[in-house]
Amino acid sequence: GLGLMKGRRGLIMGLANDKSIAWGIAKALADQGAELAFSYQGEALKRRVEPLAAQLGSDLLAECDVSDEASIDALFAAIGERWDSLDFIVHAIGFSDKDQLRGRYADTTRDNFLMTMDISVYSFTAVARRAAAMMTNGGSMLTLTYYGAERVMPHYNVMGVAKAALEASVRYLAEDLGKDGIRVNAISAGPIKTLAASGIGDFRYILKWNELNSPLRRNVSQDEVGKSALYLLSDLGSGVTGETHHVDSGYHIVGMKAVDAPDI
Ligand code: NAD
Repeated sequence: GLGLMKGRRGLIMGLANDKSIAWGIAKALADQGAELAFSYQGEALKRRVEPLAAQLGSDLLAECDVSDEASIDALFAAIGERWDSLDFIVHAIGFSDKDQLRGRYADTTRDNFLMTMDISVYSFTAVARRAAAMMTNGGSMLTLTYYGAERVMPHYNVMGVAKAALEASVRYLAEDLGKDGIRVNAISAGPIKTLAASGIGDFRYILKWNELNSPLRRNVSQDEVGKSALYLLSDLGSGVTGETHHVDSGYHIVGMKAVDAPDI
């Protein structure tokens, strides 16, 4: 690497396995010299996250369930014990009951609506507030979103509503934290086969549709999201904040199925 992240310390949240978008991002950052900390959701994931973190030279890991304020506090206390400041965070977390990621949005229950908003939206704000307090030299924050926030996509349902709120919160956070030299952005990734994505109804069809109809006529990889994350989290993106940046082979500009695309 070129050392674009040399001397920079950051927290990666949402690594579950080597298919996670967080893994593509963590590799791109470590390759440029970043020092990384990782949070994992529950002991079951620790066994998977520990060896991945070790591959990138990190032994700073802490459990964090973002639906629990005390758990977020404990995470930042653990990081504060090792590091006196923080330069960036990556929030790659989302969750909804998979039974409601199919069928009609209209049938979303109140309980699942609130849980989805809590874990997929509020958690970024809760984490941003604590991270900002440690970003004494300025910083950069990144979350992950999807096109279902902007347009209706099959089965995305309540998660689309949550991502719309997440993208709005990126703009409000960018304004609040900009005065302190902290940038806040989102990457809107095209569909990628991960654990979370496997909960979405007909996900294979969605992957195929994007492959056939996006301007680049292919899907994006975790590593491509990682490269764009590097831009937003490093000085390369120093003039960019409040942005939702699409890394989706250009799918978001398409108005109609391409004439040369086969029917599927
Ligand atoms: P993933 O399953 O690898 O990652 C999701 C992560 O969320 C997991 O690490 C899981 O532990 C974590 N998580 C869920 N609930 C949590 C909680 N209560 N506390 C702490 N962590 C919790 O899947 P992914 O696709 O890499 O997802 C990362 C982000 O990217 C999500 O926000 C997702 O919506 C977004 N995204 C994914 C795609 C895609 O097609 N895969 C496209 C656009 C955006």
